[in-house]
Formats: sequence, C-alpha cells, structure tokens
Amino acid sequence: MAQTQILHVDPYQPDPDTIAVAAAAIAGGQLVAFPTETVYGLGANAFDPAAVERIFTAKQRPWTDPLIVHLATVSHLDRVVQDMPAALIGLAERFWPGPLTLVLCRGRSVAPNVSAGRNTVAVRVPAHPVAHALLVACDLPIAAPSANLFSRPSPTTAQHVLDDLDGRVEVILDGGTATIGLESTVVDLTQTPPVLLRPGGVPAELLLDLLPDLRVPADPMVGAEGEATASPGMLLKHYAPHAAVVLLRGNALSARALALTILNLLHNAGRRVGLLVPDEEFSLYVGLHAEVVGMGPSTDLLAVARYLFARLRELDSLGVDVILAREVAAGGLGTAIRDRLFRAAEGKILDADAPVDLGNWLTPLLK
Ligand code: AMP
Ligand code: MG
Repeated sequence: MAQTQILHVDPYQPDPDTIAVAAAAIAGGQLVAFPTETVYGLGANAFDPAAVERIFTAKQRPWTDPLIVHLATVSHLDRVVQDMPAALIGLAERFWPGPLTLVLCRGRSVAPNVSAGRNTVAVRVPAHPVAHALLVACDLPIAAPSANLFSRPSPTTAQHVLDDLDGRVEVILDGGTATIGLESTVVDLTQTPPVLLRPGGVPAELLLDLLPDLRVPADPMVGAEGEATASPGMLLKHYAPHAAVVLLRGNALSARALALTILNLLHNAGRRVGLLVPDEEFSLYVGLHAEVVGMGPSTDLLAVARYLFARLRELDSLGVDVILAREVAAGGLGTAIRDRLFRAAEGKILDADAPVDLGNWLTPLLK
C-alpha cells in the first residue's frame, strides 16, 4: 500500500514545482489523481503496462473496462493513435480541449491493457489547467479513468478521491471541485456511422452539427445494455452509492403522493430514506421521515451536473438505506444526468403516473 500525498494547487495557476512532483510520479510508474473539468482522474503513464495495471488494481476495476488516454494537445495524437478519420479534425478543433472522448485506432506504443486488449483507444484533451499542466510537465499520455472505486459515484473533489483510494494512490493533486461534474461524452469514430457510446459533458445535440450521421441511441441509458460490447464500461450498475437508489418518474404531485406512501412503509420497517429532488420541489418534502437533499434547480442543469455525485455521496454519509431520486428530463446535459441516475438506480424506475405494484418494488428494498 502506498502512502498517499495530497498536494494543493491553484486550479487556475497551478504551481510548477508542485506539478513537477506529480509529473515525476507519473514518469516513475506511480499513480496520480488529478482534477479535470469532468471528474477527478486516476492517472498513470499510458505507455507503461505495469503502471496501467496498478490503476485497475487500485480501483478494483474489471480488466475488461478500457481507460481514456489524456493528451496535452491535439498535436500529440500521433503518439497514441494509428489513423485520423476525416471527422476527427473538425471535432478536435471545436471541442478540444474539453469533455469529448473519441475512440480511435490504437497506436502501437499504448499499453494494451489501457484498451482492455482492444485495437481501439479512447482519447481526450482535457481543458482543466491542472490536468493540462501535468500532461505538459510529464510529456507523456496519461491513462486515467475516474478516481473512484469501481461502480461508486465518480469523484468531483480531492476528498472523494481520498475517501475511496487512500493508500491506493501515491499523489492526489487537490485543485478544488471539478467544474462539469459528469464524465466526458464518448463517441466511437472507428464505427461507420460513428456511435455515441456515453452521453456526457458535450451534449449530443452539439455533435450532430459536425457528425450528422452520428448514431445516438434513442434513450442511451436503455440502449446501453445492448451496446455492451462496443462500450464495455457502460454497465447497468455504475455511479452507485451504498444505499439502494430508485428513480421516481412522473409529475411533481403524483410523485410526492407515491413517495409519501413508500416513505411510510419503509419508515415503519425501520429503514432510513433519502430524497434527492429538484430545488423547486424541495418544499413538497419538508417535515417527512426522510433526509431531503436538493439537486439544484431543474432549470440549471450545469448546477445539477456539478454536484450530482457529491449529493449521492452526501446521502450515503447521512446513513440512508434507500434513496428516492426524481428523474431528470432528457435533452442537453439532462441526458447525461439522467443516464448517471439511471445507472446509480441499476435501472429501477417507479412511474407515479402509472399503476404500480408496490409490494413487488418494496420486497427487495426491505431485505
Ligand atoms: P471512465 O474513465 O471511468 O469514465 O471510463 C471510461 C469509459 O470510456 C469506459 O468505461 C468506456 O465506456 C469508454 N471507453 C474507453 N476506451 C474505450 C474503447 N477503446 N472502446 C469503447 N469504449 C471505451
Ligand atoms: Mg468511471
């Protein structure tokens, strides 16, 4: 087990000496957690298979789930990929640096375990000044998945990283809260037509301008299971807190009525319940047997996205057994938020506007 060193850096103007310590750790085959604009990443030298293997071990991530390679600049692409499809240039110009990951043909120098043995590699140029400074200082591509334990909510602060990976990572660069709070959008350019593998920080609507033939699953969260071979990381259970999550669909008042019934049943059975609701619905749930956490106003999806994972972790730390979370409408960033909540809930949705067999639903929650 490693001794974890936490180094504080200014998120906008990181101190070069501090960055040099982290860069030396990467070059020496160690693991460094660092902030990006999406979530915190757990980084290792993408050319070093032994260092990459340590990422999987630290996270307890299955070997079949490939990692994203981060580059300082688009001009380093030829270090990690074999060919550049025509669409790549326009996408890179418009969205890099930024929260878009492109799946391309893997270059020979990239450690095969980065790609879980596939001949493709996922690549991104992050916009966060700390991530950028680290990449420039070590002059290596950095393979980095989210810096959490596998299947847990992604980390958006250094404390989240420490909570999951203390003693499993040599260095944590603490650069404050990740700005977007959700992972990157993943697009596979090795398939024709290209396919959206994961909704994320760049809304699919924006990609369609440059990729008019992009295949966007009608509701990616449902399509994802069928896409399992194309996108091995899109598992049904992901981003999950310890508490069981159930999504509540339907209009505000019917959702409240259903939530009340469930709350009473669970409370009587000795279960502690958390509610994750848009701020505008918060007052509907005051004074009940539940820990109520606001997810932000549903008109401000940037705020909902930024704090979503932190709020799931907060509900866990409040000791609840079950979280009822209001579903978020699709569209723009909402599609990615909806996808993360769907996976946190392992697909469990209760529709308050449709007949519900509560007995069926509650039995597993009472186990
Ligand atoms: P994370 O870094 O934890 O956000 O996970 C990265 C995700 O990117 C994986 O879970 C996959 O869904 C996707 N990904 C990475 N590499 C590939 C690849 N070569 N082919 C398809 N999907 C990939
Ligand atoms: Mg992850």
